[in-house]
Amino acid sequence: MFIRRLLKPGASIAVLAFAASFAAAQGNPSIIEKIIDEGKNRSQARGTLDELSEKIGARLTGSRALDRGKTWALRRFRSYGLENVHLEEWGTIPVGFDRGERQSVKLLGDSDFEFVFSTPCWTVGTDGAVKGAAVKLPENIEDVTRAPENFKGKFILMPKQVGMGGPNLQRPTEIDNALDNAGIAGRIYRTNGELVWTSGRWNSYKEDNQPKSPLITIRRSDYEMILNQLDSGETPMIEADIENIFTRRPMKQHNVIAEIPGTEKPDEVVIVCGHFDSWNGPGSTGASDNGTGTTAAFEAARILKTVGAKPKRTIRFILWTGEEQGLLGSRKYVEDHAAELDKISAVLNEDSGQNWHAGIAGLPEMIPLLKQAAAPMADAFPGMPVKVQEVNRMSRGGSDHASFVMKGVPGFFMVKGGGLSYRHVWHTQNDKPSEVPDINLKQMATNMAVLAYNLACADEMMPRVPLGRTTAHPNLGGFFEGKDIPFCECGSILELGYQLSRMGF
Ligand SMILES: [Zn+2]
Repeated sequence: MFIRRLLKPGASIAVLAFAASFAAAQGNPSIIEKIIDEGKNRSQARGTLDELSEKIGARLTGSRALDRGKTWALRRFRSYGLENVHLEEWGTIPVGFDRGERQSVKLLGDSDFEFVFSTPCWTVGTDGAVKGAAVKLPENIEDVTRAPENFKGKFILMPKQVGMGGPNLQRPTEIDNALDNAGIAGRIYRTNGELVWTSGRWNSYKEDNQPKSPLITIRRSDYEMILNQLDSGETPMIEADIENIFTRRPMKQHNVIAEIPGTEKPDEVVIVCGHFDSWNGPGSTGASDNGTGTTAAFEAARILKTVGAKPKRTIRFILWTGEEQGLLGSRKYVEDHAAELDKISAVLNEDSGQNWHAGIAGLPEMIPLLKQAAAPMADAFPGMPVKVQEVNRMSRGGSDHASFVMKGVPGFFMVKGGGLSYRHVWHTQNDKPSEVPDINLKQMATNMAVLAYNLACADEMMPRVPLGRTTAHPNLGGFFEGKDIPFCECGSILELGYQLSRMGF
């Protein structure tokens, strides 16, 4: 019935047959057909992700790199013909931090060995290249105070293994202070595996709290190589050249916003979003976290404009910043837009890495709308069906959809399929565009466009999230109630959930 109303008399048999397969969809079937065709056959997603990753690079909240990225994002949305393209301020970061070109730590020898390494954001680097011997952390403070010259200019091997949180700076010990006073060249930590994680906090690194030399984290196996040299009586020599740049002034922070205004109900909104900020450890470009979500939003916007989609409701594209520091941009957005939250039908958030979209999960009362919206994606990409999953609780953890769910607005975190390990890239040295397959990017972006267009054309808005029907788990409630894990079809999202839960989310 819906189809008959939409198709003009005389529509070809081919179109009718195609439309029939979308019988449940809410938008115009011929537009949906064009969206899928554009997303599959003329995708620009790869170019967008590569340009973002390689030209702009990593985008730490409170960095000049992120500021350059925001300008790039505004230009890009405008070039697609979107409207109301603008930045919206959410707050200020008191001190900026960027990484310069010079980023290397080496073990010197017959042939130098370059370490894969990181230093926490908002910590000092070196003033040019600094060479020094590696020595073990002394057992007691007297060893340092008695002969500080033994430690001056040395790199101290710290016994602590560090994971996601990195070296802890907040409670410098007496021995830490003594080492700093002795004038050490830096500290070297080992990871708890082969992944070198980057994080950091601007607010714990006030100037008087700063260590005076770099906190370097290298892979455990490389650290063991240094230890072996020491234990064999050799003197391992380290050279560090780390250009960490502070911008010592408050820096205003913004979300990037663009719209396709609705034709019938412009004040009702479907949000397509992902966070634009990233960590910026050496080597990482924030390609999977969250260049993929950013690219999906850009490409969905481009596809919808290219095919001439005229959604009934407004589709608003938002690139958040401050996500990695605690969903700062989206939390302020729901606060500033409290009066409009009832008019937000759904928030589609992509922030789970390089795998493709396997599904979307909602409360039982949301299922009919979700099924209609996702129907065209059941077989649009062979072997990559988007399924709808019923859950008893909506996720209010892990990423920016959570800011909305906490206020009763249906916020969806995309379920992934495909089996690539998100943990391998997430916040590590491996977060590069080469880890993201083209086809996954195309499928994600096309799915975002289809879901957003259909929901923006649906007869009704998405039912609200009742108080108490949420779970703190970053993933999708139901999957972790033990009943439907196979639907997820991949280990990556489980690993993400595991990691986040270990971090206390
Ligand atoms: Zn992320």
